[in-house]
Amino acid sequence: MKKEALFYTKEKDKVVCTLCPIRCSLKDGQGGVCGVRINHDGILYTYTYGTLVSYAVDPVEKKPLFHYLPSHKTFTIATPGCNLHCKGCQNWEISQVKAKDVIENELFKDVNVPPEYVVEMAVASGSKSISFSYTEPVIFYEYMYETARISKERGLYTIMVTALYIEEEPLTRLLDVIDAFSIDLKFFNDETYRRYSGAKLDPILRNIRKVFGAGKWIELTTLMVPEHLSKDQIESIAKWISEELAPWVPWHISRFFPYYKAKDLPVTPLEDMLYAYEKGKEAGLEYIYLGNIDTDRYEHTYCPSCGEILIRRRIFTVIENRIKGGKCPRCLYEIKGFFEG
Ligand code: SF4
Repeated sequence: MKKEALFYTKEKDKVVCTLCPIRCSLKDGQGGVCGVRINHDGILYTYTYGTLVSYAVDPVEKKPLFHYLPSHKTFTIATPGCNLHCKGCQNWEISQVKAKDVIENELFKDVNVPPEYVVEMAVASGSKSISFSYTEPVIFYEYMYETARISKERGLYTIMVTALYIEEEPLTRLLDVIDAFSIDLKFFNDETYRRYSGAKLDPILRNIRKVFGAGKWIELTTLMVPEHLSKDQIESIAKWISEELAPWVPWHISRFFPYYKAKDLPVTPLEDMLYAYEKGKEAGLEYIYLGNIDTDRYEHTYCPSCGEILIRRRIFTVIENRIKGGKCPRCLYEIKGFFEG
């Protein structure tokens, strides 16, 4: 559905979208880099308000959030579009769309699910939270905001899974309605970010600092893209999390599998995953997780003080949770996160 966008300015015969750092300057009829915001007669519209193309009930571990009410069910939604263009996107069929697709494609054009209905579905599914994910929720900002606002009125928690490539003002407003963030920190080098994803590093670091500083729960994920993410960058990411945020911020290191325009790249070698894990340890990070690999070791939460296994997981499923009152039952070390019981 077409709805006037919240963030834009008018300049002579153009409008400038101020939602994300790309700041598209659009003539009448033109669409932005994300494909879903279009200038019509001097008004910027979002074309994906209500265009619900994907929804599912997932364990929160799939987001991934490992320290945020472990094992609860989260109702997850997406609309088409993305402001990034990652070469190895796993959801490219719904993320890499053009405005023309959204307006004309049978899969999208007649879809209109109001936020109230999404929240009803979430409540009926028995979920404790609602997540905005699969594509990039920044580009369905207005739909996410309203859905999150109503969700909170209904007692649901709200989660955003995002690359956080957004301008400061919209992010500030979003902090009123989003409780937890799962954030991709893909690279630590502007050139690589630009070449692989079409984004810049600095706004992303600024935004992560802001969300963390606002006291929101955050967990970071780095996809180990071979031939793009260098060892230097891995080391820098680990140090940055530990020194600029805190050693207790969970870091998910995810194995890459070739998709979309990156089919020529190999699967991340296991030794590279272990290298990143060791660099995280050296940087003092307390909670490091390896994702997309099947092991009986790197998905668990360990007590940083005594080494006890506190939460045992296997492929995003919690097998056992021994945390009591937010503490290790053996040495009483405080485990950061949101835990029940
Ligand atoms: S949200 Fe879309 S239209 Fe707006 S600046 Fe970013 S890419 Fe351009």
